[in-house]
Amino acid sequence: MLVGIMGGTFDPIHTGHLIAAERARVEAGLDEVWLMPAGVPPHKVNAPKATMQQRWEMVCLAAEGNPFFRPIDIEISKGGVSYSIDTIELLRKEYPTTEFAYIIGADMVQYLPQWHRIDDIVRHIRFIGLARPGYELDMAHMSENIRNRVTIVPMPLVEISSTAIREERGQKRSVRYLVPEAVNGYMEVNRLYEA
Ligand code: ATP
Ligand code: MG
Repeated sequence: MLVGIMGGTFDPIHTGHLIAAERARVEAGLDEVWLMPAGVPPHKVNAPKATMQQRWEMVCLAAEGNPFFRPIDIEISKGGVSYSIDTIELLRKEYPTTEFAYIIGADMVQYLPQWHRIDDIVRHIRFIGLARPGYELDMAHMSENIRNRVTIVPMPLVEISSTAIREERGQKRSVRYLVPEAVNGYMEVNRLYEA
């Protein structure tokens, strides 16, 4: 079994995440995609605006209806900083016969060389990289051991980010269809990201 893992802060999860996950699934022949909210993301200075529970619930709502998508709480239930290498070691222990690939957008692709213990990470898992507006997918400057482990799959450029959604909501502007309908409703009911 080949499983794609899409990690993220998901503050909130949006349609760009879901399109990327589905493209990766189809193009890379994944059996499943696991959507994995991060506890405290190591690369972010600013803490998430929604609570961990709210980010988790929105991921669950977003995964509904796609039989190949599954939310996993491995990082949020562990608590604290979630380094990918620790998560990968946990996953390999818990699912010894499953092969994992990380699904990442172009911003994360560019950031790969700086990932904590990246040389160990690329020994165990592959990456599926997808285009994102404003970020290069060029990996010429990266070392071969990293570059060889990244497969780029086609993705329509989707100019949606959680940051922009939080800002729009802060100004009481609609983000309908930028997020799944159920997530939009959840943000409304919980008054998420309102000023
Ligand atoms: P923020 O603005 O808060 O950083 P974000 O929109 O970047 O949020 P993240 O949760 O940080 O979302 O991203 C999780 C993963 O999804 C990352 O690998 C990121 O590259 C990818 N991703 C997010 N939005 C897109 C998009 N529009 N197109 C392609 N990949 C995306
Ligand atoms: Mg981001």
